[in-house]
Amino acid sequence: MALTTLTAEAIFDGSQWVRQVGVDNGIICPLHDVSPWKSQHSRHIKGVLFPGFVNAHTHLDLYFELSSKPFHEWIHDLILQLTSNYNAQASVARSLHDHWMSGVRYIGDITRAPDGDYKSTGIQVRGFEEFIIGYPEIHPQRHYSPHSLYTVNSDFLRRFSRENRSRYQIHISESQAEFDYFCGNNNDFYRNYLCRYFRHSYKGRPQTPVSFLHELGLLDKRAVLVHMGTATEGDLQLVSSAGASIVTCPLSNQYLHNPPVDVSQLEALKIPWAIGTDGKCSRHKLDFLEDYHFLGQKIGYETAFAAATAGGAAVLGLADEYTLYGKTLEDVVVGFGSALNWQRVASAAEVW
Ligand SMILES: [Zn+2]
Repeated sequence: MALTTLTAEAIFDGSQWVRQVGVDNGIICPLHDVSPWKSQHSRHIKGVLFPGFVNAHTHLDLYFELSSKPFHEWIHDLILQLTSNYNAQASVARSLHDHWMSGVRYIGDITRAPDGDYKSTGIQVRGFEEFIIGYPEIHPQRHYSPHSLYTVNSDFLRRFSRENRSRYQIHISESQAEFDYFCGNNNDFYRNYLCRYFRHSYKGRPQTPVSFLHELGLLDKRAVLVHMGTATEGDLQLVSSAGASIVTCPLSNQYLHNPPVDVSQLEALKIPWAIGTDGKCSRHKLDFLEDYHFLGQKIGYETAFAAATAGGAAVLGLADEYTLYGKTLEDVVVGFGSALNWQRVASAAEVW
């Protein structure tokens, strides 16, 4: 098959905006890589071509409906569902399907199965193996997710901080109740939720969750902090100096009556950040475009686009994989709308 020169309204190749790319035997390539003697056809796409969205935090295995309510009430519904009617395999397949339809091609997944990284139906998944009450063998190449500071025992966390070599994800500063629990202002979080499932409660000095994470030796470049809506300005300063990154899940936060982190503060402090949907169980619909619009309207679409693409890939440690080159048209995505404010996304093969 001959080489085709591909142009579009705009093309983001994964690291920069380019005027055109080549398609050689169905594979996208930079044009300078191609022999000038090959005969060329050209095609134009009316939309913005890019490698696809990066959903930096989700739980593929939690695809089911739970009603919107405050976090400490919702968590009981979640645990009930997990112990009565849970089908991981079916959930993962449905989540991957919805992600594909909303233009997501890279995922940071919190998984309870030790799957590691894998590629499924064109989506690159980075698996963060979650631990809650047990402690896994730490393999230097794998990625982990201690669930939170309040569910994982502090001694486990100290050991994890010594042994872990890779970036990891943790849910932190998600609700006001969690924040108050560590600051010693209110023990309802323990009485209404934790004591039903865990014997241990926080015995340390009153401090913010981020400060406690720092005390455990876990706040550094490896840390990917999920939520952070109740973090203080001091917490964000600490995160910035530590070189850690943040994933915001604004629609999941809304669903569970929690505040989302103010991303303009993250921009001001140059904290790397990304966008996550969280699992289907904490939102109405698993559609990444909704989160993208929520942030685009708040902070501008250029900034939201950076976080939803290359920024998200960097937060997951997938910057090298985040590219148009070497991919098929099926793999990559076109956004349709006005500039970066899109009404619809589709696989590039559909509009070829
Ligand atoms: Zn989550």
